[in-house]
Amino acid sequence: MNVFIKTYGCQMNERDSEAIAGMLASRGYGIVDREETADILIFNTCSVREQAERKAVGKIGFIKKLKKQRPELIIGIMGCMAQHLGEKLFDDLPHVDFVIGTGQLHKLPEVLDSIIAERRQLALLTGGEEVLTSLGTHYRMTGTGEFQAYIAVTRGCNRFCSYCIVPYVRGREVSRDIADVVAEAENLAAAGVREIMLLGQNVAAFGLGGDTDPPPEGVSPFADLLAELNRIQGLCRIRFISPYPSYFNDKLIRTLGALDKVCHNVHLPLQSGSDRILKKMNRQYTAEKYLEIVAKLRQVMPDITFSTDIIVGFPGETAEDFNATRDLMRKVGYDNAFIFKYSPRSGTPAAEMEGQIPQAVREERNQLLLKELTDYTLAHNKTYLGSVQEVLIEGPSRRNPGRWSGKTGTFKVVVFKPAPETASGDLVNVKIIRSTAATLFGELV
Ligand code: SF4
Repeated sequence: MNVFIKTYGCQMNERDSEAIAGMLASRGYGIVDREETADILIFNTCSVREQAERKAVGKIGFIKKLKKQRPELIIGIMGCMAQHLGEKLFDDLPHVDFVIGTGQLHKLPEVLDSIIAERRQLALLTGGEEVLTSLGTHYRMTGTGEFQAYIAVTRGCNRFCSYCIVPYVRGREVSRDIADVVAEAENLAAAGVREIMLLGQNVAAFGLGGDTDPPPEGVSPFADLLAELNRIQGLCRIRFISPYPSYFNDKLIRTLGALDKVCHNVHLPLQSGSDRILKKMNRQYTAEKYLEIVAKLRQVMPDITFSTDIIVGFPGETAEDFNATRDLMRKVGYDNAFIFKYSPRSGTPAAEMEGQIPQAVREERNQLLLKELTDYTLAHNKTYLGSVQEVLIEGPSRRNPGRWSGKTGTFKVVVFKPAPETASGDLVNVKIIRSTAATLFGELV
């Protein structure tokens, strides 16, 4: 039977879809990239925003027609929305055959066996102890090249930021064994993977046993993991996303600076530059502490670039709070930022807070930050002119197939004219001759 998997949301979901596809392929299912050719449709969903849920429900509702034409079609919902809405989904979408929560993805093959045999609706939403063991399975179905791979190292989150639904739908933080992650990375490197991206809702909490507090100085199992991975032959780049700022102690910062394969680009979610708003968000750092981490990282990696997540228009955000965010953004100088207009997420404390900000104000603040971000990246990218950058080649450029593109270790997109021997996954040196806010252009040297 053929399976089509549609993925919504973050890299963790993409990684889960790879694991799902891997499990099914090893049991003889075919993985297809068009829903018309599938016998089983799986929607791996996101719950972070209500809009994301509406989008998935709309899409799944739309295929009711297809199920009428082909009653034998099996339709399933997995991921965060499945966990969040559970069996209620059967009320709105009666043509759906199964709903599987975030901790039960490893049970998918048995669920399918049961549905194929008995043709009845099934929901599986509790008991996720084994899920970590299924994360090592790989099936390359995302947009990443064969030489790049995601590795999930933790799942869940213990931080309970007041606007976020993740701890409720992904559960408490759990980490894989270090040996298990290293073995997976070794297998990937042996298969030709050159760059790995370590994933976790709070990836830097790896190995802390679910402790709710950031580790004391001198303790960072995540740093130990990076050191182990750095030794693997064939791997040339290690990236990770997303670390909670408070987990950057001196041990982790020193380790990041010392390991030659760790990329000099850190995604450091800020959310707000105002201490008052950070407190309301239940983010356990201050603007000053955040800037101290940035300064220490710059000390050990002078060419480091930063990206971040920002929420504008959080309940009670005054013009002064917003200006504190602008000020902090200027001080850091981000090369990329995911700037979200706050949208209330039912089931989270922030949705009940007083002082919800009008949509027009959120929009205006969002636009202003986007403009300031572009101004900064335009100016910063000019500083690359004339320099030679090491680029990991990804393939032909999407806009101009006559050009190829890749990324620097600092996560800059570089477009260049290929040589006849140019191949994806190669590391090359490129001299930068032109730049825009989003892209560096260069020639092979
Ligand atoms: S750290 Fe906060 S924002 Fe990130 S997943 Fe955990 S609760 Fe959500």
